[in-house]
Amino acid sequence: MEKTPKFKYLPEKALSSLVKGLLKEYKVYGTIEKDGFPAFGEVSDADELKLTQSPSHLSAKGFLFPQREVLLKFNMQTSTHVPVIEAERQVLFGLHPCDIRALALMDRVFAHGVADPNYLFRREHTIVIGADCMPDEYCFCDSLGNNDVEDGFDLFLHKISGGYLVRVGSDRGAELLEKHSRTREPGRTALIELEEAKGRRRLAFRAKLDAPPEELPAIYARSDESRVWERIGAICTGCGSCNNVCPTCYCFDVKDEVGASLAEGERVRSWDGCTLEDFAKVAGGHNFRKTRAERLRHRFNRKFRYLTDTFDSLFCVGCGRCSRSCLVKINIVDVTNELIRENAGI
Ligand code: SF4
Ligand code: SF4
Repeated sequence: MEKTPKFKYLPEKALSSLVKGLLKEYKVYGTIEKDGFPAFGEVSDADELKLTQSPSHLSAKGFLFPQREVLLKFNMQTSTHVPVIEAERQVLFGLHPCDIRALALMDRVFAHGVADPNYLFRREHTIVIGADCMPDEYCFCDSLGNNDVEDGFDLFLHKISGGYLVRVGSDRGAELLEKHSRTREPGRTALIELEEAKGRRRLAFRAKLDAPPEELPAIYARSDESRVWERIGAICTGCGSCNNVCPTCYCFDVKDEVGASLAEGERVRSWDGCTLEDFAKVAGGHNFRKTRAERLRHRFNRKFRYLTDTFDSLFCVGCGRCSRSCLVKINIVDVTNELIRENAGI
């Protein structure tokens, strides 16, 4: 059997026919510009896509794990319920490497233990098309080994002169590319250009962690008593933005909402966040993490320590979104580097 070549060359003009073709079968959500900022949004034309750009403020997690979703509808008079498991066929177009890594982590979370049918059904109906990006002052995926991805996508577009080098990551991706566009084999200069662009991108990272990723769980484990937590806890407003923008924060709350008739209702799941005051509050009013310092320490440990036991992976992909969105400038790289220095006795 003939092996699928790793790269295809897609001329710039052919991007539009690819998007047009996808739009016949899928809703397409891609990286666009909204109010002057990079964002994810619905796309109806290739011109709206802004590929090879800075990171978006919000990640794409909401397309698979919506901020609010109905899990089931129930009727208390008839004692019946109907699960709501819905998905539209969708393409996520322009995901950067860190977001593709984050998606792979979310796939593992929602398949772990009792599998989550809502997430997994949506995931089955989702095509992932990646694209290169350029780091800003908050991106540090390079320090965590996430500046490139080998899998987790159906197609991945690298911008080169006159078009794109497309990496094919799945049979589904290969079929869509063949069906909706005309590609050709890339020349040697295209591959050289790609390597040069990768080199430039690596040099563009300004935010860096001062220890390798495999050392971070132990560094965090030794940092429970660090003064860092009190210091950042004193300025944190407890707004929860860092949880909301994070592509790997997946905590949620489930509530039953009953209609005015007191007969019918819906079970609704919505995002929750460990930096919010009520997150660890239980019946009787006891709060397991009363202070902002404790809540921030918990959040950082979830990213660099606690989940490694279950998933054998850090849960921070280095997208920098939490630092970018924090109004009081709590920066995950600065905090981690401070802990690294404390551990080294510097
Ligand atoms: S975004 Fe900043 S201020 Fe808001 S909860 Fe997170 S760390 Fe605290
Ligand atoms: S913790 Fe911050 S930098 Fe890490 S993945 Fe979440 S938002 Fe991105």
